[in-house]
This record gives sequence, C-alpha cells and structure tokens, in this order.
Amino acid sequence: MDNVFWMNLHAGAGCSLEDKFGRLLKRAGLDALAGRGELVAIKVHVGESGNLAYVNHNYARMVVRELKACGAKPFLTDTNTLYSGSRHNAVDHNETAVMHGYFSGTAGAPFIVADGLRGLDCEELPVNGQHVKKARIGGALCQADKLVMLSHFKGHCEMGFGGTIKNMGMGCAAVPGKLELHSGSNPLQKPEKCVGCQQCARRCPVHAIAMKDKKAVINYTTCIGCGQCIAACNYGAMGIQWDSHGEALIEKVAEYAAALHERFAGKALYVNFALSISPDCDCWDYNDAPVVQDIGIVASANPLALDRATLDMINKAPKLAGSAAAEVKSGNVFDALRPEIKSGYMFDYCRKLGMEDKYELVEIK
Ligand code: SF4
Ligand code: SF4
Repeated sequence: MDNVFWMNLHAGAGCSLEDKFGRLLKRAGLDALAGRGELVAIKVHVGESGNLAYVNHNYARMVVRELKACGAKPFLTDTNTLYSGSRHNAVDHNETAVMHGYFSGTAGAPFIVADGLRGLDCEELPVNGQHVKKARIGGALCQADKLVMLSHFKGHCEMGFGGTIKNMGMGCAAVPGKLELHSGSNPLQKPEKCVGCQQCARRCPVHAIAMKDKKAVINYTTCIGCGQCIAACNYGAMGIQWDSHGEALIEKVAEYAAALHERFAGKALYVNFALSISPDCDCWDYNDAPVVQDIGIVASANPLALDRATLDMINKAPKLAGSAAAEVKSGNVFDALRPEIKSGYMFDYCRKLGMEDKYELVEIK
C-alpha cells in the first residue's frame, strides 16, 4: 500500500496555498527525486486555446523552483496532438503554451515539445501488453533523467475520466503512438479538405499515398498506420478513425502508461490537480462548469493509487447544482455522465499489468 498525499485548498495568513503546495511536494518526495545537473521533464498540458480549466502555470513554476533548488535542470513538456487544433505542431503548441503562461518568463523553465516539430520524434519503450509491445513515447520525455507529471483530473470522452494514467498513456505518446491508441488502424481521408499539396505522399514511409484527380488517396493494403500523413497535412484532410472506443482503448492507454511507469520506476513523482473538475478534457476548446467542488491537490510516486484516491474523493463530494452532474446522486460521477464507458475498467486492467491501486491517504495541513 502506497502513500498518497493530499492538500485541500484552505489557506490563510501565514499559510498560503504556495506554502502548502511546497509542503505537499516535499512530503511526496520531490526533494529526493532529482540530483544536481539532472534533466527533469515536467509533463504538463497547456490547455487547448479557448479552454480555461487546465492547470494554472503557477503550480508548474513552484515545481520548477523546488527542482532548481536541488540543482536540477527542469523543463516543461508535452506532446503534439493528432487532431488539428492549437497544439498540432510544435510552433502552434509553443504559441499556445506562451498564451497560457507555460514559458520561461513565467514558469521559470523552457517549454520543449517532447515529440518535436510534427510529433514524430519518439522512442520505443518496451511493454509486454496484449496490444502494445513498443510504446512510442515523445523523445524528450524518454531522454529525461527524471519525471514530474502534473495532471488535471476531469472527465474524458473516451476514458470516462482523465488523470495521471491517461496523461501518461495518451499524453506522452508521440503522434504515431497516439494513432495506435486511437485507431489501431489507418487514417481517415477527408477528400473535401484535400488541396493536393502532396506533403503526405512525400512523408509516407511505405509509399501508400497516390494522387488521383489532385487528391491524396491511401492504399490501405500498404498503409502501416504510422500517422506521418496526419502530422504532415496542414489542411485537416487526414483524420483519425475513432473506432477504438471501449475496453481496447483503455487497455492500450494502460499499456502505454505501464511502459512509461517502468521507464521511470523510482524516478518519478505524479501530481493530480482536482480543481475545476469539468466534464470534458482540456483538449477541447471550451470547458463546461465543474461537476463537483475543488477537491485539492494530490501527489504520489504511485500513479494508479493516485488516480484511485483522487477519484474516490471526487465521487464522495456533493455534485454541484447547475452542472452536468447536478442530477447524479451517488457512485462514479464520470460513469453517470457517460454510461457507455466503464471508466473503472482502467484500474482492473492496470492491476493486470502489475500496478497497484491500494493507498493510504495522508493529509497535508
Ligand atoms: S497533405 Fe493533406 S492536403 Fe496535402 S495532399 Fe495530403 S491530404 Fe491532401
Ligand atoms: S499512416 Fe503512415 S503508412 Fe499510412 S498512409 Fe499515412 S504515412 Fe502512409
């Protein structure tokens, strides 16, 4: 059974939230985590443009300050998205990060996109999963000496909820990895958006794309599902086949998370921010009203126990009037919001992969 450390948001004269967060990080082991000169990846989600529920950059600044005090060299990082939005490539991603306060001037450390300009810079981490044998994780994340993961806990349209395991499994995957997670098959062509620029055909490693009537056409017999054409297309003409919902997606995300967990065994600290707990994830360009009150900040070296403890506290909290969960009386609020998804399956499957979700909750005053 592992310790999970939790602080609520009560503060007052002589005890600011910043002080309290510093104590939480210390008790959870941040001081002992990083040594002098070590490169520490602080995995964040800077929030899609238009979303305001993402984790405030000031929390990242405090983590940076503590790590620098240990002599470490922290950097902020995230991977690009599959879909075209404000974080689809490193240029747009950096601009969004700056807009949301995630850059050296405010957070005290540079923001480096983990999987490079178009999301293709990745390394393969081994995992003995049912679906995945090599998890394709953003290169800068794999190359870091240590990892601190800051995750916003909220609802998610495919996983039911998103916390640390989802941030590890989906949030750290490079674009080819995300394609594997989301579709497990091939890109979806949208010929009405294709302008015939041929960038996708030039990037396809197996020459599976031909031009016909000035439109790109994929040969699905040849396609290996690498995702390079999705990354290459600036016009949104190569999409994702969102056909991997349900158990298979949750299993694949868990397997990616297990690969990362193994890579950083004894070298990582995970932090959940149960604040502004919106029904949908921060990849959307909006955020609906929170479904429960702010629970606080939770940290542990055990990512699955951390998600379990955070979810337990959220489910015990009264649902907020006027929110999407106003009519939910009891049980898992995220399952009530999306009855088609069995979000608790994530815990069952992670345990099969050798992870543990038993915890002892330690409150930080
Ligand atoms: S990169 Fe996009 S717009 Fe260009 S040919 Fe390929 S699908 Fe069409
Ligand atoms: S996913 Fe990869 S292999 Fe398939 S068409 Fe796109 S670039 Fe080619």
